[in-house]
Amino acid sequence: MTFGLLWDRQFHTILVQFSPVGATPVRVVRLVILIVSSFYSDASCGSIHMLDRHLSHPWHTLDKAQLLHTLASNEGGLSQQEAELRLRHFGPNRLPEAATRGFVVRILSQFHNLLIYVLLISGAITLLLHHWLDAAVIFAVVLINALIGFLQEGKAEDALQAIRDILSPRAAVVRDNRLLSLDARWLVPGDLVPLQAGDRVPADIRLIRTKGLQIEEAVLTGESLPVEKIDTPLPEETILAERRCMAYSGTLVTRGQGKGVVVSTGTETEIGRISQLVAGVQRLSTPLLRQMSAFGRRLTLAILLLALISFAFGVLLRDYTVSEMFMASVGLSVAAIPEGLPAIVTITLAIGVRRMAGRNAIIRRLPAVETLGTVGVICSDKTGTLTRNQMTVRQIVTPDISLEVSGVGYDPHGRLLCQGEIYSVSVDDPVWRLLRAGLLCNDAELSRETDAWSIQGDPMEAALLTLSLKGDLDPFSERKRTPRTDLIPFDAAHQFMATLHHDHEGRAYVFIKGAPERILDMCQWQTIEGRRELLDKTAWHSRVEALASQGHRVLALAELIDIGARRELRFEDVESGLMLLGLMGLIDPPREESIGAVRTCQQAGIRVKMITGDHAATASAIAAQIGLLNPRQVLSGRQLDEMDDATLQQRVLDIDVYARVTPEHKLRLVSAMQQRGQVVAMTGDGVNDAPALKRADVGVAMGRNGTEAAKEASEMVLADDNFASIVHAVEEGRTVYDNIRKAILFILPTNGGEALVMLSAILLGFHHFPLTPVQILWVNMITAVTLALVLAFDPPQAGVMQRAPRPADERILGGWFLWRIGFVSLILTLGTFALFLWALTLDASVAHARTVAVNTLVMFEIFYLFNARFIEDTAFNHRALFGNRFALPAVGLLLLFQLAFTYLPPMQRLFGTAPIGALAWLLILLTASSILFLVELEKMWLRHFRRNRRQ
Ligand code: ADP
Ligand code: MG
Repeated sequence: MTFGLLWDRQFHTILVQFSPVGATPVRVVRLVILIVSSFYSDASCGSIHMLDRHLSHPWHTLDKAQLLHTLASNEGGLSQQEAELRLRHFGPNRLPEAATRGFVVRILSQFHNLLIYVLLISGAITLLLHHWLDAAVIFAVVLINALIGFLQEGKAEDALQAIRDILSPRAAVVRDNRLLSLDARWLVPGDLVPLQAGDRVPADIRLIRTKGLQIEEAVLTGESLPVEKIDTPLPEETILAERRCMAYSGTLVTRGQGKGVVVSTGTETEIGRISQLVAGVQRLSTPLLRQMSAFGRRLTLAILLLALISFAFGVLLRDYTVSEMFMASVGLSVAAIPEGLPAIVTITLAIGVRRMAGRNAIIRRLPAVETLGTVGVICSDKTGTLTRNQMTVRQIVTPDISLEVSGVGYDPHGRLLCQGEIYSVSVDDPVWRLLRAGLLCNDAELSRETDAWSIQGDPMEAALLTLSLKGDLDPFSERKRTPRTDLIPFDAAHQFMATLHHDHEGRAYVFIKGAPERILDMCQWQTIEGRRELLDKTAWHSRVEALASQGHRVLALAELIDIGARRELRFEDVESGLMLLGLMGLIDPPREESIGAVRTCQQAGIRVKMITGDHAATASAIAAQIGLLNPRQVLSGRQLDEMDDATLQQRVLDIDVYARVTPEHKLRLVSAMQQRGQVVAMTGDGVNDAPALKRADVGVAMGRNGTEAAKEASEMVLADDNFASIVHAVEEGRTVYDNIRKAILFILPTNGGEALVMLSAILLGFHHFPLTPVQILWVNMITAVTLALVLAFDPPQAGVMQRAPRPADERILGGWFLWRIGFVSLILTLGTFALFLWALTLDASVAHARTVAVNTLVMFEIFYLFNARFIEDTAFNHRALFGNRFALPAVGLLLLFQLAFTYLPPMQRLFGTAPIGALAWLLILLTASSILFLVELEKMWLRHFRRNRRQ
């Protein structure tokens, strides 16, 4: 077995080594070394055998040492190599997907559609009348249609699946003594996993350290109140819901921090045992699709009614035979059914989702694609979304002295300057104490990779490390001298972070950093020239104000010495009596793209609002730099608390900057804006943001810095945490909706025209109809797969972001839409009928006249495609021809099809066509091109009409 495992791994290596280029001598030697060395790395495999025996251990009864021993793990985590071996052995940490609908069901569901039923009935009638060929073509069309639908749906579902994979949960893990973030699928038993608020627990974990850790286990136990977790062993008979030293896969960390060892993964976890299923494949359904299928049902009923009436009319009032009229009614129904439309709409949506993903906006719920087009307000976080989240400390203020800091970014080349002179920091002076607090009350890491400095953790904390290096404090030795014993982690709700340290003489220190208002509340003392004095809070508040109004993010730092021998830090310890060390002012420049994106929003009638935990003056300064409409007026969290809902609703649309707000305020803001009839997009990253993200019409989570909880509550995830990506998604959302409207405006007149041709022929008592049912089907199918498909790929129109958002309740088939469809249908009917009659006079053969009619219809479609690419704007520009790279090839392809249809003998037999001459083609071209001008005239009239009405 052991050998098998190794061999398997070697085999993999061999494949990797040899597949791309082949064997060079160096490679062969390396391979031999690899194989030989693998026999000596047997030790790590032993642990797997041992593990196997322990897999169903009562994990909650073990103490930490037993646990680590049993799982052959240690406090530094597994080695990467060992983890890979275990992964091979235990398999990836995932649950099997919910069974997708079976192949047969999926094929059959394609036929489950009222329009298709009508076609099938038409086919059956045709069969009864012994029109074998026609029946065959009708059935063939139904089949082809189902096949296209099936493939297309599969592709769209695949696209959504691929996007789900991008979003697969990530987990933090310690391996080889290093903290990594990896795809949760690669976790193995024995892995050491830190947990923090907002995480979805990635596997079943036995906790070895907890700090206020609370986990909500509703998925497992049905209990929605979070459970407080502990890290001590429990008696064996403890039931699952009470095993408080365990964290189970799929549950949600709502508060605190913890660390534990993975004990089981994938289907071996408790959730994996309860059900083998995770959330199913996302079905393709959106309000628009539902609106379309409702429309389809109404249309079908109308068509059936029309067919019945015309049948009665033809038999009773005209001299048609029953069989003749049957075929005419079949033709009429077939003509009026837009078979291709549902597929085109689905494809357009799927393309939209893909395009958005290409621009870093990953759609989690399909309806968001449509909602994005209606968004009227975007509420955005500041730090990291509108700004770069690259912080640099610029100013330092201690009770004694104010300093400037030179240098940019995380590179510690820079100095502290006092009025232009270099200030050197000496041990125990006030600046030294400020810097030390900053570097010890800190979880970030700063490292140098060749030339560039890179950071891990919170950028603001990393900036404090850079600062301490500039002041000649070495983070490494300081941390060693006074190691940390406990901490209260930063949380947006309490806005500070505190750490407890002990030096080797046993002295205790507490360092606190956080939002200045909060810290000043907790402080009582300051040291001036070595003397302890009472703190003058008003003076400090105005210093904070001065720093913040320059756009600086301000941080206050404080310390507490002599808290006795305790090794645990509680909230009460830091609530009051602290010694203020000073302030730091940090810059976090706006992202370049934010400024452009905000401008785009303003042109697009979208109001941008900044919602931040930062200081009011900082927020206001950044808002002005970014170009928000009303940066000066700021509403703070405290003011929000005092305001009643009615007042808030009244003011919420005018105020663009909200500062010092907590996640709870976000929910109130979203609700107030929605009360004012706005469609709201809202960003968020923390656990506490989830309610607001759910409430917002489009909840937007941060892909990089966001928690799993925020992602799960959102409709869309930003891969790059960038505000500009939201705006791109809105643009794509508007484009999708436009393209669907274009497809409808393009497809329905074809059906309208064909139906009108048939109706008029019946009314006029023609015995030879201008189009046969199979010819009609040909036109519908062939134009749908060439021309209409082109529209699904249409790029955004020039003005998409220069008009107001569409009203959320707009009906896609309202008012002038129906007029446009009727108008174009009429042109098609008149032109087709006229040329049919002309062809009859030229050559008595009906086959010839019908061929002319079909070609006229198709040629009309070709010209109309270019009108249809712009719903209201003119098509007379070069973009109409070249703006969509699929348009001209599709036209070329369609012309080839028509030539085959007209001149190829088998096609002539199948479709009852005959060759037509040059004069006929010329007339067809002239007639068909008229539509280009007529529709453009109509658009001009429409634009004129709209302008007049607006005035
Ligand atoms: P933002 O909306 O700008 O991201 P946050 O809610 O993250 O605001 O932070 C609010 C305030 O809390 C900040 O202005 C800062 O003063 C303080 N703060 C942020 N991060 C930390 C931290 N890691 N430690 C201490 N204080 C912090
Ligand atoms: Mg933040």
